[in-house]
Amino acid sequence: MQFFEIFSILISAAVVGSFFGSFINVVAIRTHENSGITGRSKCPNCKSKLHPRHLVPVLSWLIQRGKCAMCGKPIHIQYPVIELTAAILAVVAVTRHLPDGEWLWAGFEFFFMVGLLVFVVMDLRWMELPLELMVGTGIVFSLWHMVLQSSTGMPSLQVLWSHAVGFALATMFFLFQYIVSAKRWVGAGDIWLAAVLGAVLGWPLVGIAVYFAYIFGGSAALILLFTRKIKAGARIPFAPALITGAFAAIWWGPSVLAWISHAVS
Ligand SMILES: [Zn+2]
Repeated sequence: MQFFEIFSILISAAVVGSFFGSFINVVAIRTHENSGITGRSKCPNCKSKLHPRHLVPVLSWLIQRGKCAMCGKPIHIQYPVIELTAAILAVVAVTRHLPDGEWLWAGFEFFFMVGLLVFVVMDLRWMELPLELMVGTGIVFSLWHMVLQSSTGMPSLQVLWSHAVGFALATMFFLFQYIVSAKRWVGAGDIWLAAVLGAVLGWPLVGIAVYFAYIFGGSAALILLFTRKIKAGARIPFAPALITGAFAAIWWGPSVLAWISHAVS
């Protein structure tokens, strides 16, 4: 493939990805406010309806210097950050599958990851993890992943078993911490999220996701403690750590597993 062709594909992926990120922002905020998904976007401060030119992902925010074009109130950093993250996730998913052309796998990786961003936003901003959205995400993406795995020639029983074991182990591991710590280490929402990740990723990928989640979450907690952003014993949202752990498992899981089996044998 020529350089220009690859370049155009990646730019298109970034643009499409950023619009999905914009949609994710709407889903997160309207789920929090318990309002419908349809209807024009408004400024949360002055309530004026936004024009399409105010809704271009990342660019509108840059051009308006992070402020509402009508009232000048700062726009929450969530908007450009999620739009940019979604653009990056799309570029990564497409880049990973440019050589093999497995677009259904690329789609699975992108839509699952971008969907999880709803929970990152809601947990960070409001410490909320909506149950219906988590269950829906779990059902849709575990089926999608199982169909993809079966299509690679993996025996159906093995596929089913992997997802059942992933779901059961992830749920039990977090339920155990929830009970032992009397709800201090993890919340009920974290158990559900871990169950969803276990069902979608399957075993052993979810094990790798949880491993990375503790590394990322632990490092973030240490940095926040040392910079005195939080006090010892403070509750910090764990969903972002679990979700970045899931990203790491999808991107690096197969290499980690190959390395482990090499080290063991
Ligand atoms: Zn405004």
